[in-house]
Amino acid sequence: MRARAEIDLAAVRDNVRTLRGYAPHAELMAVVKADGYGHGAQACARAARQAGATWIGTATPQEAFALRDAGDRGRLMCWLWTPGGPWQEALGRDIDVSASGTWALTEIVAAARASGRTARVHLKADTGLGRGGCQPADWPQLVAAARAAEAEGAVKVTGIWSHFACADEPGHPANAAQLAAFHTALSVAERAGLDPEVRHHANSPATLTLPSSHFDLVRPGVSVYGLSPSPEVGTAESLGLRPAMTLSASLALVKRVPGGHGVSYGHTYTTPGETTLGLVPLGYGDGLPRHASGGGPVLVAGAWRTVTGRLAMDQFVVDLGGDTASAGDRAVLFGPGDQGEPTAEDWARAAGTISYEIVTRISPRVPRVYA
Ligand code: PLP
Repeated sequence: MRARAEIDLAAVRDNVRTLRGYAPHAELMAVVKADGYGHGAQACARAARQAGATWIGTATPQEAFALRDAGDRGRLMCWLWTPGGPWQEALGRDIDVSASGTWALTEIVAAARASGRTARVHLKADTGLGRGGCQPADWPQLVAAARAAEAEGAVKVTGIWSHFACADEPGHPANAAQLAAFHTALSVAERAGLDPEVRHHANSPATLTLPSSHFDLVRPGVSVYGLSPSPEVGTAESLGLRPAMTLSASLALVKRVPGGHGVSYGHTYTTPGETTLGLVPLGYGDGLPRHASGGGPVLVAGAWRTVTGRLAMDQFVVDLGGDTASAGDRAVLFGPGDQGEPTAEDWARAAGTISYEIVTRISPRVPRVYA
């Protein structure tokens, strides 16, 4: 096999159990958007459910529909809606939806009336992230509209929720400010007569470090896959998490070249002397970051090498020096790190990004192999 991303579903299950231990009084929604951060949404949702996740969360409705198509029958929520979205299909498929503003609630009520169903809605407050969610000034109006829709039987407000901006920096003042704003939003909703089943605000870093944010439900994503949200929160190992993805490839070619030989596009690297080059058949077409050119680490023949010269669409070169290797030898780009291989965190550092992006971008061209 040219390359593969092995997904350790036992690690996903263990991570979910570990996360439940961090938030023992809350339910857990495993976030599987973007194909389970590149790990495969269906397999990871199933594994998370087996380990006690009572909810699954996706961004788009289409991601939620795909899970229903695959047989998921549990509580399922999706939150990224645009006007004219497939509300009726979501209601028909028993999927909880989200409303950040009255335009969404109006469309949800219309879909509920048309289908004769009661929509389960999570009202989203912007407590300070400054992205999705309803601004505090507009919140009383959204709450009142939701209460009226409840009275009509079109809607049940299942959840009130929000999302952190800086939870990956424990102690950041925005975290306490957001929690205070959330309490205010909850009070406004309660005074209006709303009685949500689940109040939720915590992503992975908040699940791991901020118990006062757990409320009725925590909503971790990256930690389900065994990755730490940030170095400030801890290492995967120190948090008790196990990275679930191992990305590897078979060397496509090993060859000796003389000193002074340019390597890959642009000749950004020239061999300092006679050396052995190994060709790794993975590139940015597989989702590797081109920014890792000259820095991305790879375990080959027992030692760490780095991407030598420019990483191309389908392949990159590693300078093996005087070491011997053969075509077909395994090159491990990243994994849990317990067999001496680099981690997704190492790749993130080399590419100037976060580990979330490293795993999520691994493209469908790389087969996922489940263990
Ligand atoms: N909730 C929402 C709304 C999100 O967009 C995300 C992902 O960014 C998560 C939860 C999970 O976040 P994390 O992967 O940091 O746990």
